[in-house]
Amino acid sequence: MRLRHKPWAKDKIEQHPQYIVPNPEDYKGRWHEAFEKAQPLHIEVGTGKGNFITEMAKAHPDTNYIGIELYNSVIVAALDRLIEADLPNLKLLNVNAADLGKYFAKNDVARVYLNFSDPWPKVRHEKRRLTYRDFLKLYEDILVDGGEIHFKTDNQGLFEYSLMSFSQYGLLLKFISLDLHNSDFEGNIMTEYEQKFSEQGNRIYRCEVKYQNDLD
Ligand code: SAM
Repeated sequence: MRLRHKPWAKDKIEQHPQYIVPNPEDYKGRWHEAFEKAQPLHIEVGTGKGNFITEMAKAHPDTNYIGIELYNSVIVAALDRLIEADLPNLKLLNVNAADLGKYFAKNDVARVYLNFSDPWPKVRHEKRRLTYRDFLKLYEDILVDGGEIHFKTDNQGLFEYSLMSFSQYGLLLKFISLDLHNSDFEGNIMTEYEQKFSEQGNRIYRCEVKYQNDLD
C-alpha cells in the first residue's frame, strides 16, 4: 500500500478514543467491557480503510468487531467510516499485529479475519507474512479453542503458501474457494482491495481454517 503522510492523523485519532482505543492493554482479558454488549469478538488484522469491518459490524450486530491497522495515515479512513456509522459493536486499534499478545488474552477472540494481507513475495521476507507460523501461534494464543481464521486474497502465491502454512501448523481446512466471486458463497462483504483487484479481473481466493484442540 502506498502511504501518504498525514501529519494530522495522530491528533484526529487521539480526539476519538471512543472509536480508536488508546489503551488497548487495559482491556486484555476483558474486551467485553469495551463494548455495549458481551458477545463474541471477531478481529480483522490489517484492516486498511475499514470497509469490510464496518459493513460486517452493521450486518452482524450480535458480534463485536475490532479492526487492527498499523498505520495512522490509513486507519483514519476507517475512523471516518466509524464516526459516520457510529456502531456500538466496532472498535479500532492502531497497533502492530506482532504485538497482539500484549492486548489480547487466551479466549478473548472467536475469529481472525485476514483480508488481502501484504504478500511479501521474497523468500527472505517470509516471516513478515501474516500467515507465517509465528503469526498462527499469536492468533492461537488469543483465540478460543476451535477458533477460526477467515482469509481472502487475490494473490495466488500467498494463497498457496498460506494453505501450506495452515496445514503444516495443524489447522483444519474447512472451506476453500478458488474463485469466490463466481461461487455460491453468500454474504461476502468486499474490502477496498477486493473491489479494486476484482475490477481489474483478478480472481479472489478465500478459505476458512480452524484450530483443533485435542478433543476435536
Ligand atoms: N484489508 C484491507 C483490504 O483488503 O482492503 C487492506 C489490505 S492492505 C494490502 C494490508 C493492510 O495491512 C495495510 O493497511 C497494512 O498497513 C496492514 N498491515 C500490514 N502488516 C500489519 C501489521 N503487522 N499490523 C497491523 N496492520 C498491518
